Amino acid sequence: MTTLNDFSRCVAQYDPHALPVPAAQAIVRQWATPVAAIERVALRDALERVLAADIVSPIDVPAHDNSAMDGYAFNHAALAGAMRGGASRVELTVAGKALAGHPFAGRVAAKQCVRVMTGACMPAGCDTVVPQERVERDSADSPSIRFAASAIAAGANCRRAGEDLARGHVALHAGRIVRASDLGLLASLGIGEVSVRRRLRVAFLSTGDELRSLGEPLDAGSVYDSNRYTLFAMLRRLNVDMLDLGVVRDEPAALEAALRSGAANADVVLTSGGVSVGEADFTKQLLQTFGDVAFWSLAMRPGRPLAFGRLWSGAQAGLGKPALFFGLPGNPVAVMVTFYQIVREALLLMAGATPQPLPVIHATSRVAMGKRAGRTEFQRGIAEQDAHGHWHVRPTGSQSSGVLSSMSEANCFIVLGHDEGDIDVGERVSIMLFDGLI
Ligand code: AMP
Ligand code: MG
Repeated sequence: MTTLNDFSRCVAQYDPHALPVPAAQAIVRQWATPVAAIERVALRDALERVLAADIVSPIDVPAHDNSAMDGYAFNHAALAGAMRGGASRVELTVAGKALAGHPFAGRVAAKQCVRVMTGACMPAGCDTVVPQERVERDSADSPSIRFAASAIAAGANCRRAGEDLARGHVALHAGRIVRASDLGLLASLGIGEVSVRRRLRVAFLSTGDELRSLGEPLDAGSVYDSNRYTLFAMLRRLNVDMLDLGVVRDEPAALEAALRSGAANADVVLTSGGVSVGEADFTKQLLQTFGDVAFWSLAMRPGRPLAFGRLWSGAQAGLGKPALFFGLPGNPVAVMVTFYQIVREALLLMAGATPQPLPVIHATSRVAMGKRAGRTEFQRGIAEQDAHGHWHVRPTGSQSSGVLSSMSEANCFIVLGHDEGDIDVGERVSIMLFDGLI
């Protein structure tokens, strides 16, 4: 069996104690294989699900050439005959009318036009529509119209059959997460059911003897478990099935049972806390017996202790059902940062989606920031756009990885790259806006 550990050693810059973030992302990507099972769901239930196959358009949309405006349809090539003696104004006889859903049945001769409303099928023989605002008509039922022909190009204001989606072309690709516009698009193709991947199952738990669940009294030295709530919210956004395994005490037997049950019942197991090198940090030991560990620690701040590997529901590595494992740090901010930077993409890939890189924009730093080269830092930032559209950013007050209010106060991550050093006032930095992410 190729282990994650063997594999990781082949990755450039491999250092299990301080792996650069891009190298860690590359390792995780390699092991994030999509769930195989596929389900057929009704269109509305496909929202936020991942398409399992390309959607090929069975029809042209629109199905017929139709008018883009309220106006008059005519054959542009025949206008030349209607323009006597070089006159640029033409006069056409109104031969009938066409409304959306009520086509004009006849054929349109030269010097004739048809009154058309937006969405009406183009009458046979017509290719151009002059908008009603450009037309002189003596009264609503007078037999002819006049307009300046030079102002209307051939084909103007006519929507062509198949211009939205052409029959036989891929309308949406496999791996697409179905959004609002996609539901409408699928409906426009007459598709009422689609194949999607089964939802990814993610089990998560918190570790720590100091943790109290909501409703329990907070005795001396204890803290409420907040990580399971941030994890719940972040997972919800990815539309996965969740299995909340609660708070597990810092006892090897309890932790082992929880991890095994996570592996038995989910595709991915996420834990928080217990992965640093403290006395009560048992996760590492356990994973070495019934798991396979790719790395333990990232060159990242916050998020230095972060374990990634595989574990099995059986008594040792390779026995029972496997699951991917992410051992996130315990500090509440570090949980969020590592989730977005390392876990999120893996979960999307496993769900069968084609993740897009998170958009990074540039901003001018309002303050100087200390930064050590050799690790990637994710500071919580407050970014604003000035009147010229330029972004400016400053870090929130406290950058301690335990201060969750810094995440609530911030609207972006300031991403300081692995090789970057100190940042001066006015220097350009990269930011990742929370909008759309969090
Ligand atoms: P650990 O990584 O287990 O050493 O935890 C690091 C810090 O994060 C400690 O101060 C913990 O009390 C805190 N912490 C760990 N898990 C949680 C949690 N689920 N909710 C809130 N704080 C936590
Ligand atoms: Mg702990």
